[in-house]
Amino acid sequence: MAGSISARAISDRESSVRRHAGATFSGMTHPIVHVEYPEWVDNTVDWNRRYLSDDDRMRVAIAVARANVEQSTGGPFGAAIFESRSGRLVAVGMNAVVRLNNCVLHAEMMAFMMAQQRVASYTLNAPSLPEHELHTSCEPCAMCLGATLWSGVRRVVYGAAREDASLLNFEEGPVFPESYHYLESRGIEITRNLLRDEARVVLELYRAKSGKIYNG
Ligand SMILES: [Zn+2]
Repeated sequence: MAGSISARAISDRESSVRRHAGATFSGMTHPIVHVEYPEWVDNTVDWNRRYLSDDDRMRVAIAVARANVEQSTGGPFGAAIFESRSGRLVAVGMNAVVRLNNCVLHAEMMAFMMAQQRVASYTLNAPSLPEHELHTSCEPCAMCLGATLWSGVRRVVYGAAREDASLLNFEEGPVFPESYHYLESRGIEITRNLLRDEARVVLELYRAKSGKIYNG
């Protein structure tokens, strides 16, 4: 009797584990997508500081991009999301395409995902939230620019230009002047080429290390 109870307990537990892993009736286990920061993030980012100037905010994005290259955890791109007025750092993102086998994990996408988890809202533009803005070390690609609209940030500031990324054969995809006009017409402010030279240095560092070009 005890044995059968025990067996049922194990069986219940196994089915619970399977449910957690996303098992289906066919018995196939589906993957779960797990997104996390590399270990170095807390050594690179000061979460408690208030970042009051644009330069300060962009330097967080660039520092994350640089660490990603130096620690060999991904491509030379970093991003950060701040509360616009308070300068509170809400999330950072670093390119994790190769590390996590996931083509959507550009720095900006990671930053959006982490910020939205942190504030527990699918949009950073919820009525209960302060305004947020994205700083990214390089001009966003087509995917990230699209996601910018849905993310709820009210402002985008980028460092290096798409031409700088193109020199490394990274491709930005179908981004047109109209793409920016559309975002601006929806009330999203765009600031271009802030600290471009500092941002470009990280791209050069990546090229010098012969980093992998994963979408070019
Ligand atoms: Zn992108």
